[in-house]
Amino acid sequence: MAKSTAKKSTKRTLRKYVYFFGAGKADGKAEMKNLLGGKGANLAEMTNLGIPVPPGFTITTEVCTLYYKNNRKYPSELKAQVDLALSKVEKIMGKKFGDPADPLLVSVRSGARSSMPGMMETVLNVGLTTKTIPGLIKKTNNDRFVYDAYRRLLMMYSDVVMEKAAGIEPEETGGIRHKLEHSMDRLKKEKGYKSDTDLTVEDLKVLCEEFKVIIRQTLKKDFPDEPQEQLWGGVGAVFQSWMGKRAVSYRRIEKIPEEWGTAVNVQSMVFGNTGDNSATGVAFTRNPATGENMFFGEWLPNAQGEDVVAGIRTPNPVNEAGKTDDTKHLPSLESAMPKLYKQLFTIEKKLERHYTDMQDIEFTIEDGRLWMLQTRVGKRNGQAAIRMAVEMARQKLISKETAVLRVKPDQLDELLHPSVDPAAEKKAVELAKGLPAGPGGAIGRVTFTADDAEERAKKGEKIILVRNETSPEDVHGMHAAEAILTAKGGMTSHAALVARGWGKCCIVGCSALNIDVQKKEIHVNERIVREGDWITLNGTKGRVYEGKLDLLPADPDHNLWYKELMKWADQLRILKVRTNADTPNDAAVARNFGAEGIGLCRTEHMFFGPDRIKAVREMILSETVEGRKKALAKLLPFQKVDFIGIFRAMAGLPVTIRLLDPPLHEFLPHTDKELQELADEMGVPFDKLNAKNKSLHEFNPMLGHRGCRLGVTYPEIYEMQAQAIMEAACELTKEKVKVIPEIMIPLVGHVNELVKMKELTVSTAERVKREFGVKVPYTVGTMIELPRACMTSDEIAAEADFYSFGTNDLTQTVYGLSRDDAGRFLPFYVENGLLKDDPFITIDQNGVGSFMKIAVEKGRKVKKDLKMGICGEHGGEPKSVEFCHAIGLDYVSCSPFRVPIARFAAAQAALKDKKKKTK
Ligand code: ADP
Ligand code: MG
Ligand code: MG
Repeated sequence: MAKSTAKKSTKRTLRKYVYFFGAGKADGKAEMKNLLGGKGANLAEMTNLGIPVPPGFTITTEVCTLYYKNNRKYPSELKAQVDLALSKVEKIMGKKFGDPADPLLVSVRSGARSSMPGMMETVLNVGLTTKTIPGLIKKTNNDRFVYDAYRRLLMMYSDVVMEKAAGIEPEETGGIRHKLEHSMDRLKKEKGYKSDTDLTVEDLKVLCEEFKVIIRQTLKKDFPDEPQEQLWGGVGAVFQSWMGKRAVSYRRIEKIPEEWGTAVNVQSMVFGNTGDNSATGVAFTRNPATGENMFFGEWLPNAQGEDVVAGIRTPNPVNEAGKTDDTKHLPSLESAMPKLYKQLFTIEKKLERHYTDMQDIEFTIEDGRLWMLQTRVGKRNGQAAIRMAVEMARQKLISKETAVLRVKPDQLDELLHPSVDPAAEKKAVELAKGLPAGPGGAIGRVTFTADDAEERAKKGEKIILVRNETSPEDVHGMHAAEAILTAKGGMTSHAALVARGWGKCCIVGCSALNIDVQKKEIHVNERIVREGDWITLNGTKGRVYEGKLDLLPADPDHNLWYKELMKWADQLRILKVRTNADTPNDAAVARNFGAEGIGLCRTEHMFFGPDRIKAVREMILSETVEGRKKALAKLLPFQKVDFIGIFRAMAGLPVTIRLLDPPLHEFLPHTDKELQELADEMGVPFDKLNAKNKSLHEFNPMLGHRGCRLGVTYPEIYEMQAQAIMEAACELTKEKVKVIPEIMIPLVGHVNELVKMKELTVSTAERVKREFGVKVPYTVGTMIELPRACMTSDEIAAEADFYSFGTNDLTQTVYGLSRDDAGRFLPFYVENGLLKDDPFITIDQNGVGSFMKIAVEKGRKVKKDLKMGICGEHGGEPKSVEFCHAIGLDYVSCSPFRVPIARFAAAQAALKDKKKKTK
């Protein structure tokens, strides 16, 4: 026993919790993201690449996990490892942390595996105390800078460490940060200053003292005047913020697991705020909004990093090429500091080549010296992602396969999104201009707080969230809104970053808006827009309009990059993609989007047409076979015309038509008033109609008299449908239109159901063919949507020409979960992590998926080439598409607008599969 513990403890002391980087050498590297977080791994990588990075060290994500596991305590070895790494930093910088004569200051920065913009907190200028301030002033000979740094430390530290990390969640305007900002604004107003940079040393000194008093009053604690206490307070705050409300809600939306944890980076400060020879900025190696291959960014002279991101001052464009009409009067870094710009340009090129992807970088210039503070793969909207991927492949920076893997299937969705109708736009009242941060058009009602936005969106309202600027606290409301509009901030502000990630329409820096949050009004150009008023955003141009303009549907056909990428994807995929369509119009739209046939045509939708619902009801009310047949004869020509239209739109491609599926009561009205109207119209007594309606009542209609059970009990219904299908097919065949009908029997649970319905269908089809004297190839298959069908798939396959998985019903029946009632509890399951995903959105692979696998295996054992597809809602959902590829289906079928996404997801599935197999 004693021996084994001894062994364990030596092993534990060897554990490395702290990774150093600096002076051209780093312990870590880019591949170590899981351990060092994205920021730390890339700081290490840049250091190793010989790029100037201020030295520092990373505390691993493992410490975060241990911290929470051990009741918020650090591993005992941590302190010594931190001390050692800090002393290395001190050596390189030639300064000591906490040294009154020449203090080293550091930043404490969070860094999760995948970037969570603005979610986690950073504290700058740690190490400034009443004892170190005089030393730093003496060293820098710049007391204004030192007090500016100090007031920033007071603000950030009290907000992040003393308030948020301590779990204090004040009202939106009651937090410490707000109070301090308010006090600073008051001083600026008193003195008639416009910008933070107008504040003098004396002002800043007064302000810092005032800040400390406010901190003590508000938080009942003194601001720590001891460097080590500040440092560990900062480290702790980063770890705490991992479980903070904002981080938790972002993780939920982005589906980032809690176990990942965050790393902490401690890095020696470089100062962009020492004067006009200093600056800070954020840039992208390509334009993240359009994808254009052009260095693109924003910078501010005499400022610290957070000024650009927080949108406190409107930033300048980094280069001349990046100027727009709205920014052409502002100085670029290229013109203000040409040499440094050139150095930055060389570095950004190097980084993009090294990482072979667009990078989002942060830099700071201190007294004419350039430092890189961050690089990461930059977020981009869909349009930009597509253009970059294609252009990088053409440049041979990446392969075509990588290009296809790099675009998320959902990003294509953005291209398929609507835009503001230019004709309507010309006539519209323009309220204001801003920066085009997220493309596309959106209409919605003005809402001023994230909570309101979320609440009203839940009720089904279209909302546009309007804020001065957004912060991570607003993420839930931003998610719920159709679009986001901010008065402040630049293209790299929080709102822009988040919207871009989601491909949401967004306009930032719309400075003409005067937002009165209390009154819930926007004053703009002598107009007042109130809460609930409609506005329209053109996120592509950055224009805000009064009212509700027309939106045009998306038109991806004119995007050459998109076309190219889809071409590559189509070459790579194995799965075919069909569409679910019930009308010729939907079929044509889907075909345009690349559908290779119809996977599901629901005939009941045709029954509801106003010109035929009467005949349908007559059929239902008939007591005799003859009566039903008479009514069905009236329906037949309608159905036939429908099928002709659909076959024509899909000429040359297979069309799967499902025979009648829903329970009959769905076709009857339900209120007495409606029933009376129908009785009058049909000339039948109300009582008779009412009685019939009652007799059709089922306790559990989803498991009741529906699907092929209707066909079994009322064969004349399916007979009529089969006849209509085949007559349509024969007529078109005579016209030399190629028709490939696939007749599908729904809800088969026992092979005998299929046998019976197939007999009926085949004899009808053969009769029609004889009558027309033409040959039409047709098949008869079944939907697989009941667990019993899956388990007896060997029996069913013997009788079926094809399978189509109806995963909506299959999910209901495997799970014993009613889709229509699940809304009351299923969201709770997902929100609380009992289920990772809603099984009606993405296939439950372990449960429902296992049934599918069994059905595929048993079926193919009997019929090797049995054609199989999926037509449930899942057919257009990328993860489910990947699953369908994996279990060897032949095709997926989805709604018309999802067709490109499914094509793309199918290509990715094939690529990922290939990668796995070659590994
Ligand atoms: P986020 O992940 O929210 O971007 P960061 O840790 O990158 O947070 O820091 C916020 C800002 O502070 C950035 O602009 C960054 O460049 C700046 N910053 C962080 N560390 C330092 C440092 N050591 N010296 C100067 N600026 C820094
Ligand atoms: Mg950053
Ligand atoms: Mg079904």
